[in-house]
Amino acid sequence: MRSLLLLSLVFLGFSAEMKAQIDEQRHANRFEQLGTMLRSPNVYRNAAGAPGHLYWQQQADYEIDVVLDDEKQAIEGSGKIRYVNNSPDALDYLWVQLDQNQRAADSETPKMATNSISSQMSLRQLQGILWHDEDLGFKIHSVRKLDGSDIQVAVNRTMMRIDLDQPLLPGKEFEFTISWSFNIHDRMSFIGGRPGYEYFEKDGNYLYTVAEWFPRMAVYSDFEGWQNHQFVGTGEFALVFGDYKVNITVPSDHMVGATGVLQNPEAVLSSTEMQRWNQAKSTYDKPVIIRTQAEAERLEKGRAKDTKTWVFHAENVRDFAWTSSRKFIWDAMAVKLGGKDVMAMSYYAKEANPLWEQYSTRAVAHTLLSYSNYTFDYPYPVAISVEATNGMEYPMICFNYGRPDEDGTYSDAIKYGMISVIIHEVGHNFFPMIVNSDERQWTWMDEGLNTFLQFLAEQEWDRDYPSRRGPAHKIVPYMKMDKNLLEPIMTNSENIYSLGGNAYAKAATALNILRETVMGRELFDYAFKQYSQRWMFKHPTPEDFFRTMEDASAVDLDWFWRGWFFGTETVDISIEDVKWYTIDSRRPSEVKSLEREAYEREESHITKDRNRADVPQTVVERDPGARDFYNSYDRFRVGPSDERQYQEFLSSLSAKERDLLNSGMNFYEVHLKNKGGLVMPVILQFNYADGTSEVEYLPAQIWRLDEYEITKVFGKQKEVVEIILDPFRETADVDEENNYWPRKFMPSRFELFKSATSPRGTSRGPNPMRDAQKK
Ligand SMILES: [Zn+2]
Repeated sequence: MRSLLLLSLVFLGFSAEMKAQIDEQRHANRFEQLGTMLRSPNVYRNAAGAPGHLYWQQQADYEIDVVLDDEKQAIEGSGKIRYVNNSPDALDYLWVQLDQNQRAADSETPKMATNSISSQMSLRQLQGILWHDEDLGFKIHSVRKLDGSDIQVAVNRTMMRIDLDQPLLPGKEFEFTISWSFNIHDRMSFIGGRPGYEYFEKDGNYLYTVAEWFPRMAVYSDFEGWQNHQFVGTGEFALVFGDYKVNITVPSDHMVGATGVLQNPEAVLSSTEMQRWNQAKSTYDKPVIIRTQAEAERLEKGRAKDTKTWVFHAENVRDFAWTSSRKFIWDAMAVKLGGKDVMAMSYYAKEANPLWEQYSTRAVAHTLLSYSNYTFDYPYPVAISVEATNGMEYPMICFNYGRPDEDGTYSDAIKYGMISVIIHEVGHNFFPMIVNSDERQWTWMDEGLNTFLQFLAEQEWDRDYPSRRGPAHKIVPYMKMDKNLLEPIMTNSENIYSLGGNAYAKAATALNILRETVMGRELFDYAFKQYSQRWMFKHPTPEDFFRTMEDASAVDLDWFWRGWFFGTETVDISIEDVKWYTIDSRRPSEVKSLEREAYEREESHITKDRNRADVPQTVVERDPGARDFYNSYDRFRVGPSDERQYQEFLSSLSAKERDLLNSGMNFYEVHLKNKGGLVMPVILQFNYADGTSEVEYLPAQIWRLDEYEITKVFGKQKEVVEIILDPFRETADVDEENNYWPRKFMPSRFELFKSATSPRGTSRGPNPMRDAQKK
């Protein structure tokens, strides 16, 4: 049968190649274990997805003095880096990241970009093509040993190699000093990027968000060696854990927020601010404003000539970022988490009010509580949200957007956009700041997991929260995109066409489907928490995630990773046909009457029917019995032998078998096709004639022996009038029209227009008015 079907497909116009593809896709791949597609487990990361018994990771500690020049918008820095080699390998050289060089005049980023000219171009687009000749990028002034002698280095764009005199042996550490400077760029310009400054024309002030601002140690790991892929803009960062002591010198009227804990509040805050800060530390129900809008507006008008140095310490972080401006309003509140207090705080200019004083710090607190519930208690002492017209994350501090209109009013879109970005960026503390994945290689490992938890946190903030990503049906437009524009989620960050669709939305949706549909909440939540806690303050790989989710749940998910993370197929399951059967009771009266019905149906034709109703008068006069002429013999009469055979059959059955025979059950043979290719559980809702309904859930493994086409029989006492596939829209099925039996008409809308010519100005082609009338 199957070969016949395929043959007919060929005649319908399928090429031989397509036929081969269907055969190949049909069986024996989608449910195989991932095997060689994953790295082998080893002593550093084991087959259960946990850190292995010889797991190691490097450490880098920093002591930095940095000065912000508010006149020239420049950074001057110097510091000491202590690098600890916990690996079993002797290292001949170390790699240091120089991210500022990515936006230098000679950057390769604009050279790698393709461009084209269209009839309408924005200035920004044109500037992006021309790039710039500004003096941007790191100037490295010195790299020295502690004795003051120079160290040989080699700079390859955004990576600097430190050549060691002696190999750095396992268990040993290397300390060196480095000094540098760079000009901060205008991040509101076409150069964009994550850090930079924003200039406020009306009051002449700057708001600095300072990141990628010091030479940062690259990651050396058991799975990658040195992660020294160049920073070209999209693929984010791979960083080492360590402790930081940072002294930040800024104009004395600036407010500074940073990764870590402020060590000298008395030296940099006014006594009133100190008092409010102490009050905030024991206020759990609402933010306390420490520097008010009125105070910030007064400061905006002055220009302090002297400076203050803010001292911050941070432990076990993979990066350090800070912000500075005299425009800042500052508020804070305490959040109880795991037996300790965390300070949730916000820094924002007056342009962000009244929205920010209402929601920002509350959203920070909500995020910490919600995410901690699914992972681990937030371990850092502070969590900060800064309004900076973008969205970017760092340990303990993040930069977000969401400004009202100038009159202080705002739409729901602005409000929810702001809360969403704050949840998202604060959420990044968990992934990748603490569960420290390699962002340069995999965007999904932090963005996908974080966007998934963002969705959960949003739904906890407000039951009707307009979440953009998470629910299965919202990924459909992405999944339906041109196949040439889709890549697997398991694709390097720089090579992804639609980063938002692929690494954020599809990955988050896949996790939500795992939780709601494939694993169930209990098994998923336990396994996800297990992954988070196993890899807290460590460097996980995709294998560690895939393995842990299975290992902690006893759910085989290789088929799911294969389809959702390693493939680009879509979900489109179709109810092709349903056949309805009842049991032949073999009771002679019933058998004969059914045979009679069948015979009459078979033998009926229009002439016979009309003759019966309308026998010509002449015939009736000649032969009054004409109507019954052919029916004098009844071939469907039940005879004694029929009855005897039936009784013999009945007596051969057990009581249970007799019950089944007489149960009156209906059987529905449902014929399903997997048109999209991505195998998924089959969820069917049966609507019964009596108005009730029932849902049956079949695991994805129903497709194991034929990944393309299956039939499944359902025995139902009640009569079914409708079957709906995926009734709760939980599988991201891209074509819902074929999810109904019988087929349902789904209205599409078309536009009516009045003029005789079409809107494009041609009178040729179909005329919708005329076509509509014809119908
Ligand atoms: Zn993100």
